[in-house]
Order: sequence, then structure tokens, then C-alpha cells
Amino acid sequence: MSEGHKLLEIFVGIVFALITYQIYLHQYFKGTKFILVRSSIARHTADCNDLNQHIEELKSTYLHVKSTDYGHSDLSDTSHYNMRRRTWQELGKSNRIHNCSASVLKNANSQPFKYLCKYFDIRVDEETLSRFEHVLNNFAAAEQGKYLLENERNHIISMVDDNIPRIISTLSKKRLTRELGFQPIDLSNLYFPVFTFHYISAGGNSSAKCDIKLDIENLDKFIAYLSDLVKFRNSIEGQRSLMTSSLREKIKRRDNYTCQGCWLSAHQVTNLLLEIDHIMPLARGGLTCESNLQTLCWKCNRTKGAKVLQAQ
Ligand SMILES: [Zn+2]
Repeated sequence: MSEGHKLLEIFVGIVFALITYQIYLHQYFKGTKFILVRSSIARHTADCNDLNQHIEELKSTYLHVKSTDYGHSDLSDTSHYNMRRRTWQELGKSNRIHNCSASVLKNANSQPFKYLCKYFDIRVDEETLSRFEHVLNNFAAAEQGKYLLENERNHIISMVDDNIPRIISTLSKKRLTRELGFQPIDLSNLYFPVFTFHYISAGGNSSAKCDIKLDIENLDKFIAYLSDLVKFRNSIEGQRSLMTSSLREKIKRRDNYTCQGCWLSAHQVTNLLLEIDHIMPLARGGLTCESNLQTLCWKCNRTKGAKVLQAQ
């Protein structure tokens, strides 16, 4: 037998095996045995999907802010020989990109928060501070929530692992997860707002940009930066705390990682997402201070949020 003939035979063999496996998968997922497995965890799957939806809502927290620890930023060279200015004019329509001179770019890189406020029209006042605290609170819960959710999903799948053929749980984990009814979990950080300072030389051949990404770390710093500059109304500064990541942790510890609404505790329920709630909402003049903060599980917090919205 020639070498080419042998290779062809191996190739045909592989294709045949792949097709057979696909048919096997198709039949397995349609079979009654799998349907029973799926329905045995249906309640848990629905819970996971609910939390997934909730996390996506947290990530989309409204961040329409018209736009003395300076945050970090990245300066990168985006020079391009055949740069077309028109492209950047298109991009410039976004409220998160500011086309600027070389000197503004340089300053924005060394003092990002100062230039963020100045060029993206972010007012330095108490209202803005509260809004960013709200964003940080929700983003921090989303960041924690997505990993708790992934753990919980893996835990649920492990409960039925014995009833699922080993070849499927090893080779087709992703498909199995989908067929069990779990919605995909987005673990990316793409939802953090990014503000960009962009410089293009007159000829268009040279350019550079500076990105300020408001991730958890930078939001923490930005809030501290704002609070240093804000002149607080009614001199409430004394009783006001800042909704930083460390305050969130402090409140959870104080409440012994227990929801103050339904008393579920992270000690009893693993992968329970706990959030920090303003007892009197910020929108109704509530303050960020320890006596106005409590720990709620995500379900209680969501229910409360819906009630507050209805009452408005
Ligand atoms: Zn609760």
C-alpha cells in the first residue's frame, strides 16, 4: 500500500469517528435518560440563569456621567502610516473618546482623573460621587458574582456527573453545559467603561492614545479623588463614609456574611452572592455611612430594588 493511500485511510477513519460521535451526542441529548438528568436539576439551573441575568444587569449599571491619588493609565503608540483622519472623526462621536493635542495627552497620562473630569465633563460634586459609588458597588458585586456563579454551576454539574457518560463530560463539557440548560457566563471585563484621550498629528501619520479604564481598582481611587475635592452639603462629611471595596468587605464582616433580609448566610450556602444595600436609598437622600448600609443576598436586594422603583 502506498504512503498516500495509508494517509487517506487514516483521514477517512478520523472523519468517520467524528461523525459517529456527533450522531451519538445527538441521540444521547435527545434520549429520556438525559432528559431525566436535566429535569432533576432544573430548579438549580433556573436559579443560576436568574443570577446570570442579575449579574448582566449589574454590569450595565447606568453610567451617563457628563463627563489626591491619581489613577493608573496606559499610554500606547497607535501610529499608523496610512492613518485616515476620517476614521478617528467617526470614533470621536463616542462620548468616551476625546481627540486632543499632544500636550493634553501627556497631562492626561500623568493625572488621569483630573483630565477625565475636565475633558469628559464629569462634574465634581456630591451627586457624581454618589453615582460612581453606586457603579462601584454594582461592578464589585458583578465581579464577585460571576465567579460564584461559575463555581455553583460546576457544583451542580458535579452532582449529576455519575449519570453522564464519561466521554461526554470530558470531550463535550461545553455542549453538555448548554444542553443541561445553563446560559453561558460572560467572565470578560469588557463592560468596564474606558475613556480615551487620542492625539493625531496634523499630517495624520503619528498618533498616540491614553486609556483610562474604570475597573474596580481605578473606581476605588477615583471615588477617593472625587471625595477629596467635593464640598459636602450640610457638612455631613463627618458621618459620611466612602463606598470603597474595603467598606463593602467591612459591612459584610459586621453582618457576619448573613443577609439581613432572609438570614441566609454564606456560611450555610456556598456561592451565595452578598451585596451591600443602602437601607435608605441614595436616590432618596440616604447616605453612604455604616449605619445606613446592610448586607443583603442578591435576591433580597433585587426584590428591594424593584419595590423602590415601583414606589417612585
Ligand atoms: Zn436574602
